[in-house]
Amino acid sequence: MINAAECEPYISCDEALMCARPEEVIEGIRIMRHALQARQVVICLEDNMPGAFDCLKRALEAAGDSAIRIMPVPTLYPAGGEKQLIYALTGEEIPSQGLPADLGIVCHNVGTAAAVARALVHGEPLISRIVTVTGAGVRQPCNLEVRIGTPIGDIVAACGGYTEQVARLLMGGPMMGISLTSDQLPVIKTSNCILAASVAQAPTPPPALPCIRCGKCAEVCPAYLLPQQLFWYAHARDFDKIQDYNLFDCIECGCCAQVCPSHIPLVQYYRFAKTEIWDLERQRARADVARQRHEFRLERLQREKQALEARRAAAKKGLEKREKSGDADAKKAEIAAALARVKAKKSAQAAPPVATGEDDAAGPSEVKR
Ligand code: SF4
Ligand code: SF4
Repeated sequence: MINAAECEPYISCDEALMCARPEEVIEGIRIMRHALQARQVVICLEDNMPGAFDCLKRALEAAGDSAIRIMPVPTLYPAGGEKQLIYALTGEEIPSQGLPADLGIVCHNVGTAAAVARALVHGEPLISRIVTVTGAGVRQPCNLEVRIGTPIGDIVAACGGYTEQVARLLMGGPMMGISLTSDQLPVIKTSNCILAASVAQAPTPPPALPCIRCGKCAEVCPAYLLPQQLFWYAHARDFDKIQDYNLFDCIECGCCAQVCPSHIPLVQYYRFAKTEIWDLERQRARADVARQRHEFRLERLQREKQALEARRAAAKKGLEKREKSGDADAKKAEIAAALARVKAKKSAQAAPPVATGEDDAAGPSEVKR
């Protein structure tokens, strides 16, 4: 599934890409289809983009790929959400905390398809992207292709600069955008929109009041969550309980905060809770690694101790063996010496007396006898 539906009002960067480079988009889609061996591909775009539809259709006919279809979906916020798009197209829901792959679907953005084509066909890494620069606070709203890392102030300057109506600067759309404190921040690969909003377009929210449990937030939640319960547990920092209410299924669309009569910045609470949970998980993972390393160290020390004891036992055994064999040799030598002495004595007794000149002089009668 190729997600070509813009995720928020005001944003039109994907539409601009499909109109400007439809061949590149189709090329990237065909590469991805080949890589994934997908049986079919559906490009989903909102039904208020006739220009993009025609451009893609022409490029598709030129490519002659019958496995790729274009399907318009109703323009209804948040239609560009991955889960919402899959539900609109197939009628199937992604399981809680699951992935589209659980349904046999891979979902990519249309910008990713174009980036794949540029990378594989032209060998060009992702160095630029199309950004929508819009809002009453900018003189000439338009879509620009800008290099990643370009300061936002330079982009606004390229669009004629700010108007006197500018009140807030947002990266992203009015629903999910992040308020910026400086226009010297750079464009990153996920920067789809720079919204220089007027007071009317992005009014400063009034101070939050306590939740009155009206349930309006639950009525509008596209993920069928209970936003007031999520808020309650995020506020109480009960990060175990909040996950029982499927916090991670929240797509941060901001619908709940828009309708909340108490003006509670609900999405900020959910983002805070998610960040804290990820941080706790990182800490837990680090602690697990440290514990494993400690256990491995203890095991290694134990192994080294056992090896040392085994070497010592072997050395002791060898010494005892050598000592024993030394005693036996000494005994053998003693026996051999005793036997030699006995033999020598016997042979001395059996031998006749040897005649000498002195004997002759002493008496010839003895020699004769
Ligand atoms: S809409 Fe606001 S006040 Fe009403 S239940 Fe939800 S959080 Fe509470
Ligand atoms: S931001 Fe609010 S309305 Fe949107 S998915 Fe999350 S809880 Fe539901």
